[in-house]
Amino acid sequence: MQAIDTNNTKELVQSKWNKRPLIISGPCSAETEAQVLETAQRLAATGKVDLLRAGIWKPRTRPGSFEGIGTKGLPWMQQAKKATGLPITIEVATGKQVEDALHFDVDVLWIGARTTVNPFSVQEVADALRGVDVPVLIKNPINPDLELWIGAVERVAKAGIKQIGLIHRGFSAYGNTEYRNAPMWHLAIEMKRRNPGMMMINDPSHICGRRDILMDVAQKAIDLDFDGLIIESHIDPDNAWSDAKQQITPERLSEMLSEIVWRKEDSNSEEFHLALEKLRQQINHLDDELMQIIGQRMKVAEKIGEYKKNNDITILQTNRWNEILERAFKKGDKLGLSKEFITKYFDAVHMESINHQNKIMNS
Ligand code: PEP
Ligand code: MN
Repeated sequence: MQAIDTNNTKELVQSKWNKRPLIISGPCSAETEAQVLETAQRLAATGKVDLLRAGIWKPRTRPGSFEGIGTKGLPWMQQAKKATGLPITIEVATGKQVEDALHFDVDVLWIGARTTVNPFSVQEVADALRGVDVPVLIKNPINPDLELWIGAVERVAKAGIKQIGLIHRGFSAYGNTEYRNAPMWHLAIEMKRRNPGMMMINDPSHICGRRDILMDVAQKAIDLDFDGLIIESHIDPDNAWSDAKQQITPERLSEMLSEIVWRKEDSNSEEFHLALEKLRQQINHLDDELMQIIGQRMKVAEKIGEYKKNNDITILQTNRWNEILERAFKKGDKLGLSKEFITKYFDAVHMESINHQNKIMNS
């Protein structure tokens, strides 16, 4: 552990910001001076953590639970940085919080999921950031709305912030799932596609809400080429003042990071590229065939449409549809296709068929 000159951390922060994978860890909440310091020291001792996180102000769903230690926790973070050499990051949700954080030399700020949903709050944070040179991470909004996430990025970018990163922390979903926040990976992937070159890290802690599946989610994120992870850690997870079920000790974090298989996005080997190219051509070929076949299926649907039109029969015949699905589930099972996929696929094909038939029947 090296002690650092806290007045001159800019270069260090830059090197961390550009490091892949970027690993952020620390408690959900700063609770006491001793807890922050000990967590930071044990995290630094792993040699695997780049930034120390802690929540200072906690946006809680219901009043009455621990709402964060507030500004008095900021000097603790500053001390932890001095003692360990780890740059620090905290969540900010108001203009005043941005000011306080910057006053105490917080190196990276993040905007939480409950803030990203609210354009007024994001704008207030963005206004406080005008003229400031600090990296900002933006979590996805709690609801699965990509436009809100993009809007938050735009507001912060318009304030002049050059270094913006994204945190995928999952989305509130109706009904019970095994997750606290459903990952909805496709949304994160679409966000990456729309912001090429922007760092995106994954937050397994808030996706899982529990320790036992953290590793699976972290591995999946790495397999999907995320740029890093933010994982909550605590010296005594079971007795944490917030998010106790999902926190792990710094030592467990270290084990987890060693167990993860860190895949490369690309390989330099020619042989690998040739093999991959061959398989990709196969995929392209199969996709072309699938489209041809689906096109043919639509032609048949149109013929049925003509027939129904001439005989005055409705398009949708529920029994027939159930029959198709049942048949597909059975077949899909043998082919290793999930029920979820079969349902989605047939829903899409069915809708397209109905549209084709509609055109015929109303022509
Ligand atoms: C947090 O990181 O502690 C937090 C409050 O997360 P989120 O904004 O994702 O709920
Ligand atoms: Mn938390």
